[in-house]
Amino acid sequence: MSLFDLNGRVAIITGGNGGIGLGMAMGLASSGASIAIVGRNSEKNKTASKKLAATGVNVIAIEKDVTNDSAGTEVATEVQNKFGRIDILINNAGSNIRKRPEDLSLDEFRWVQDTNLTSAFVFSQAMYPHFKKAGGGKIINIGSMYSLFGGPVSTAYSVSKGGIVQMTKSMAAAWGTDNIQVNAVLPGWIDTELTRTAREQIDGLYEKQLARIPDGRWGTPEDHAGIAVFLSSNASNYITGTAIPVDGGFSISG
Ligand code: NDP
Repeated sequence: MSLFDLNGRVAIITGGNGGIGLGMAMGLASSGASIAIVGRNSEKNKTASKKLAATGVNVIAIEKDVTNDSAGTEVATEVQNKFGRIDILINNAGSNIRKRPEDLSLDEFRWVQDTNLTSAFVFSQAMYPHFKKAGGGKIINIGSMYSLFGGPVSTAYSVSKGGIVQMTKSMAAAWGTDNIQVNAVLPGWIDTELTRTAREQIDGLYEKQLARIPDGRWGTPEDHAGIAVFLSSNASNYITGTAIPVDGGFSISG
């Protein structure tokens, strides 16, 4: 078996119907994994499923809001019943409310944590027994540059993405002897629906960030396919608890 072969493996990608999640799902599909994507929007689910199925792998789309307490166990049961095993979980679903701390309501703060952080905890916990049954597993949590930095309108988001990194380390420490590797990916500035909204809200954002990216361009969802395959495959079997930037050098540039 090649180091990067994912034939016979089953992957769940929350928020896999668009943006970075779909970029990662396409990477896993190109290495042969069966794919389950999870998202709220049925039209986006349908379009993404077609694109993934065109690569020749098995695909299901599950219409679900990851902030529901039971979403993790419901998705795990559906995927286990459909494919007979679960090997890979990518906790990618995420959102943002950009407000200064003094303007952020408690409900808004909680909503961002529920979407970006609590859902990743709930889904990881729900997959644990299935990974144990399969003899191991891979979890990839999606952080951000805001796992490292703060910003005037990113209090809720930075808390959730900082938490993602600490949760990654703690679950990696807990589940290493179960042969479960848990890692985080920290995307830089990536052109998706999420950042298109940010660019509408913050004047000059595109140019300002571009000026600090050594690779000289914003990233794309497709830039995340390789790291998804690497962290899901045997190639990364002794790598756990890390947080790897996919940012064209943004985080090391002054
Ligand atoms: P998009 O807005 O393009 O995609 C977000 C995805 O998450 C969609 O598939 C959406 O599907 C899904 N989603 C959001 N909320 C929920 C929910 N409650 N339940 C189920 N699915 C949900 O954003 P990106 O691709 O940019 O973001 C993906 C991840 O990457 C996020 O965690 C984000 O924080 C992170 N990130 C993005 C960066 C960027 O520059 N773009 C930089 C750093 C991190 P649906 O609407 O159908 O529910």
